[in-house]
Amino acid sequence: MFIKPALLLIIIAALAGTVICQHRTIAITIDDLPVVSTRTDIANRQKITKKLVKHIAKAKIPVIGFVNENKLYTDGRRDEEQIDLLRMWLDAGLELGNHTYSHVSLHNVGVEEFEANVIKGETITKELLAKNGKKLRFFRYPYLMTGRTLEIKAEIVKFLTGRSYTIAPITFDNADYIFSRAYDNAFDKGDKALMKRVADAYVPYMESKIDYWERQSVKLFGREISEIMLIHANFINSDYLDDLIKMLHRRGYKFVDLETALRDKAYSLPDAYTGGAGISRLHRWALDRGKDSVLDNEPRVPEFVMKASGFDSE
Ligand SMILES: [Zn+2]
Repeated sequence: MFIKPALLLIIIAALAGTVICQHRTIAITIDDLPVVSTRTDIANRQKITKKLVKHIAKAKIPVIGFVNENKLYTDGRRDEEQIDLLRMWLDAGLELGNHTYSHVSLHNVGVEEFEANVIKGETITKELLAKNGKKLRFFRYPYLMTGRTLEIKAEIVKFLTGRSYTIAPITFDNADYIFSRAYDNAFDKGDKALMKRVADAYVPYMESKIDYWERQSVKLFGREISEIMLIHANFINSDYLDDLIKMLHRRGYKFVDLETALRDKAYSLPDAYTGGAGISRLHRWALDRGKDSVLDNEPRVPEFVMKASGFDSE
């Protein structure tokens, strides 16, 4: 068969594109379990958890959820209905990690208090994981705040490593929590049109963000590293996680577990950032090399979503 050179070029480019796409990998991590929403009643929490777990099970992808155990107590006592929400995650074969007991920021408390909060936050999760033949392995810093001095950072890392934790960084940073608060608020007001408007903007916003992080990765490493996405166990994701997963699929992502993502050698590079913001590991590495390494024009949350959320800034 004779193929015109121009057509041949197109075929080669398409094949190359496919090959590049197949190399994209991402780990999905979900914070603030069991649920973070303006509606804290158990029926709502069950609904959100069921829907989130269903999306994940349907997509057959590995996911880890990071728990704040203070949500598992009512009036100071273990609340089995709340703990059942975590059992739903485990029954679906998903992993759980520690996100401190009460979502405490390392930038607001001393090292001792932070460490005590980490320990307090592992009681029930450890017990549930053990019943499923699993160990508590991963830790995620609340607000991604990792310490304001190199000494504090090192001390906490040593403490976490000593308790057999692997720290779970993120690269795919985004403001899903702002969209979800806007979505919650619109629901609370009975404003279905606004709920839809917020939802319609959500996945396109997330796609613009991952596109940004892909390019930031190429700027730093000359390649796309294994991404780690952070989202929250919230209302908007309970309705739209499947669309989010579809979008990532369409971009050629293969879903891997956190352990696999962390094998990318990029993650062996140090994180020397001691600034006040909770930022992506990609920006931490970029700042290490100097401000010019930070890619311009990071996508922002649309103004109407900011307004509907009630948040002043991202
Ligand atoms: Zn959190």
